[in-house]
Amino acid sequence: MQEQAVPPKTARRERLAASLLFLVARKAYGERKRGKERFVFMNPQSKNGIDWCDYTWSPVTGCLHGCSYCYARRLVRRFGNGGDSAKPTVAKPGDVFPAGFSPTFYPHRLGEPMRIRKPSRIFAVSAGDLFGEWVPEEWIESVLDVARQCSRHTFIFLTKNPRRLPDFLFPPNAWAGVTIDGTGAASENEEKMMRLRAASAPVRFVSFEPLLNRPAGIRLNGVGWVIVGAMTGPGAAIPNPEWIREIIDRCRKSAVPVFVKQNIKWPEKIEEYPSPAL
Ligand code: SF4
Repeated sequence: MQEQAVPPKTARRERLAASLLFLVARKAYGERKRGKERFVFMNPQSKNGIDWCDYTWSPVTGCLHGCSYCYARRLVRRFGNGGDSAKPTVAKPGDVFPAGFSPTFYPHRLGEPMRIRKPSRIFAVSAGDLFGEWVPEEWIESVLDVARQCSRHTFIFLTKNPRRLPDFLFPPNAWAGVTIDGTGAASENEEKMMRLRAASAPVRFVSFEPLLNRPAGIRLNGVGWVIVGAMTGPGAAIPNPEWIREIIDRCRKSAVPVFVKQNIKWPEKIEEYPSPAL
């Protein structure tokens, strides 16, 4: 898929965001060297961020799906080293995206969720796709093992490649979701939904984010949660309200909880979670 041209104003904002991220990472590295650990790559989320989780956690980064709207890849490219190679890289403590947006594993970040006492919703691998075809099985098992050990938290996994979901045993505190942006054919979406239903996770969900078109071929049987959201980043387009209304109505008919992200600017606040929720 081709990259879209970035407007000058957007490019300036992204440069600023990348510089801030770099400064935070550099400061944290310095503090780590002085013995003060920080949750740099386990970031608390606010209403302006990923509002359906409390933290993002990045024991794995990088992704080869090549989505034209990938904000994370654009940011990483501004200060990361390396490119988009399929070769898996294992990072050392202190490395900041050592291989750019190539698949990278940070074993030293695996313990981060254990240091958070309050039960939290943790979006695992927010800057990548843990279930991409290129991700070694051991990396996936290591991340799922952390979820098994941290039963007080809920770990939320989201992929564009649900083909691999049925291959893994999810613990009771892990949710598995698939992203559907509405650009795929009905048959493609049906195939994704079939794979999702075969996952062992107790909550299986669909994220319509970024919603770029009316999703075709979606039936919500076997689905326990739905997220609707827009593209992120400066200048991002808001989806057609008709598509959003249809998704909400379908959730209501199927008694599926739905979380409408604030970035979609929907007039009504709808922030529902599967039950029992944290
Ligand atoms: S799946 Fe997500 S992380 Fe991967 S390229 Fe697309 S937007 Fe980026």
